[in-house]
This record gives sequence, structure tokens and C-alpha cells, in this order.
Amino acid sequence: MSDEQSHLFYQSRQPRPFLDHGEGIYLYDESGKRYIDGSSGAMVSNIGHSNPRVLAKMKAQMDKATFGYRLHFRTRPSEDLAAKVASLVPEGLNRVFFVSGGSEAVETAMKLARQYAVTQGQTSRWKVISRLPSYHGATMGSLGVTGSPLFTGPFAPMFEEMPKIAAPTCYLDRDNLTEEERGLKYAEKLREQIEAEGPDTVLAFLMEPVGGASTGALVAPDSYYTRIAEICREYGILLIFDEVMTGAGRTGKFLAAEHWGITPDIIAMSKGFGAGYAPLGAVVARGDMVEALLDAGGFLHGFTYAGNPLACAAGLAVLEEMEEHDIVGNAARMGEVLKTRLTGLMDRYPFIGDVRGKGLLLAFELVSDRETMKVLPKEWNAHSELVELAYERGLIIYARRTRGGYEGDHFLVCPPLIITEPQIGEIMEILTDALDAFAARHDLPVIEEVSA
Ligand code: PLP
Repeated sequence: MSDEQSHLFYQSRQPRPFLDHGEGIYLYDESGKRYIDGSSGAMVSNIGHSNPRVLAKMKAQMDKATFGYRLHFRTRPSEDLAAKVASLVPEGLNRVFFVSGGSEAVETAMKLARQYAVTQGQTSRWKVISRLPSYHGATMGSLGVTGSPLFTGPFAPMFEEMPKIAAPTCYLDRDNLTEEERGLKYAEKLREQIEAEGPDTVLAFLMEPVGGASTGALVAPDSYYTRIAEICREYGILLIFDEVMTGAGRTGKFLAAEHWGITPDIIAMSKGFGAGYAPLGAVVARGDMVEALLDAGGFLHGFTYAGNPLACAAGLAVLEEMEEHDIVGNAARMGEVLKTRLTGLMDRYPFIGDVRGKGLLLAFELVSDRETMKVLPKEWNAHSELVELAYERGLIIYARRTRGGYEGDHFLVCPPLIITEPQIGEIMEILTDALDAFAARHDLPVIEEVSA
């Protein structure tokens, strides 16, 4: 069916084959062609496709009840999943609110923060400082904290633009600072922004602990995270981690926050949490904050599908599967293997400027000059061109041209966390072939004697 004949529409005209089925890290279209899901969709399918345990648990729940409105019933799957989540996150974060996706999770986190501040008599606090570039969702509230002119542009008059500080793009800096000093330099931007806004007006600081599609797996120096947490504490500002992409094991820990021993006040999760089996997200918050809200009459917020028992049964089975097979540990181990292999590509392709990320949230960036990190000509559309070259060859990767403070073509290589070393070899083989084709098209150098 051509795109013109379809009644369905998404962001752009991009006819794709019909999906037939999935199995493990692979997807198959209706013609039988196989694709490696090298980006887990949009960093979603953390435990791979068609997992038998999850399917069985969902079927069992389907036979009992697929919906029970939360004001009429509690359900075992939602209660059990909340308990499971609380057991997996840092102590103190023990209250869970379910939603159906990442944007809803971010909206919920911000509204929870605000209503909590009101219960504390801090009615002047409403600003949520976030970063540029960043991505936090597509709804009006989440657009206000999203630092991406591409997605926010036309809608700017319709939402409240929140203050932004520069994301720590240390890999672009050509200064004499140590990594630790660079981290502190970027963290200080938060203090400056708080002072500029007026500390009494600032409610929270919201950040992706490891960047997603916004920055291409951007990780800050360790010092950044600890200093950010200190600054928030100092000013009585809530720290919200948007772990929609990083949560549920993607970075090699259940939460990315664990890498730095940080306990944010609120965490937003989705994507790998439902792992593609159900539209599911969660906001996990400090117990005392939630108690204060409930004492004051309750959280003035909710979605009809919140805590849907079928979605929660899927989420619970996903977490059980992850635990039983140490899938988070595998993400850490295979993340190291894949990162080393991707870094190895820099020997062969001088036009790869940077390889970065944590666990299996990894990315590489293409440039015309590695020394200066000069970007490729915009009109090449390198991000979509290389994606197509890989797709034709049966490998799905996820790419964007970063916009907002900095522009550049980055590519996320984020396979399901169940991937094995030989399967990483399969990814590298196709990726090398696609990069060779990209280099040939644009007359870019390839250093032949080094194999990927
Ligand atoms: N936050 C982050 C960090 C994301 O990566 C995304 C989606 O890519 C979202 C929020 C929004 O999630 P959703 O598309 O499920 O609404």
C-alpha cells in the first residue's frame, strides 16, 4: 500500500514495510525480510520481542480483567508492580503513580512537584529549569521543558517556556580543563540560572541523566551529577530525573541515577518499563512528598488508563524477566563490548567524531573534522541517509540531527538488553557496510587496513 492510500498519518511521509512479527532482537516484515532491532524501536524493547513469559502473563490477565477503574477497584497487577518498582529504586522513593507513556510521566512529575510545593506553603515556586538540548515529551507541558527548537517551534505561543541551561556538551569543548572541572563548570550554570530567576520562584530542575535522542547519549563527567544534586539541596529545589529512556536497565543499572549514587526527589520512567508490551510509564516519588499531598486532600491529577491491569501485568512480567536473567547486568557487559567495537570504527572512519554513552545507550556522531568537531553539511541529511543505508541492509538504528545550542548528526545504537556478543558482531558487520556506502557516496576517507 502506498502512503497516499493510507488513512493513517504520523510525522512525515515515510512509507515503511508492514511489520509481521518479532523474535528476540529481530523483527520481520511481511515479505520475510529480517531486521536487527538495533535501536529497540525508540529505545523501548529492552527485553526483546515476543518474550514468552510476558505474553503468557498478559494472556492470563486478559482472561481475568483488562480494565478496572482505579476509583472503583484496586488491582493486584498495579499494586504488585508498584511494590516491585519500589524495591528496585533507591530507598525513600517508595510511592509510584502509573501512566501510559513518557510525556505523561514528565507532566505528572512536574505537577506532583508543584502541588507538593503548594502544600508546603511555597506557592511562589513554579519554574522548572531544564537543559538545552533536551527532550521531555510532546505534550504542551513537556514541550515547555524540552530544549529542541525543532519540536517546540510552531507551538511556542501556546505553552509556558521554562528556563534552560546548556547541557554539558564537554566533548565539544577545546579548553585546558580536566573532565572534573568541566563537569563543575556546567553544573554551575544551574546555580547561575537559579540566581537569575530568583531562587524563590524555582520549583525543580529536570534532566535526562544520560541524553537520549536530544543529544545522542550525552554523559556528563561524574562531578556534574554530584554538584547538581548539591545545588538543588542548597536551594531547596526538587531534583527530577527524566529516566523515560535511561530507566529499566538501559544504562547498565536499573536507574541511571545509581551510577552516581544520587537519589532524585522524583523519577519519570516509561519506554523500557513496558518494553513494548504495553503503553506504560511511572512516576516514582519520595514517600513523604506523596503523604503531604494525600494529607492535603489528594493529588489533583490522573489519567483514565493509569494503572491499567493489563499494562501493569506486562510491566511486572518484564521486571521479573529482567531479574531472573540478569538482563541489567547483561546491558552493562554488552554495553562495554559494543562501545569498544563502535570506538574501533573511529580508526576506519575519520568522519566519526565521537562515540559516547553508558550501558546499551550508545551513540556515535559524524563530523567533517574530528579535531574541530565541524559538523557535516546540513543538506547531506546524514542522519537520515545513514539510517536508510543501514535499514536497506537489515539494521535499524535511530538518528537525529541535534538542534538547540549545537547541531550535529548523531546515531543511537541501542539494541535490546538481551543481546549477545555474536549478535553485536552482526550489528557491526552491517553498520560497517552501511558506513562504507555512506563514505563512498560522499567521497569521505576510509582507512582500509583497520577492520571494525
Ligand atoms: N522523556 C524522554 C527522555 C524521552 O526520550 C521521551 C521520548 O522519546 C519522552 C520523555 C516522551 O515519551 P513518550 O514519547 O512516550 O511520550
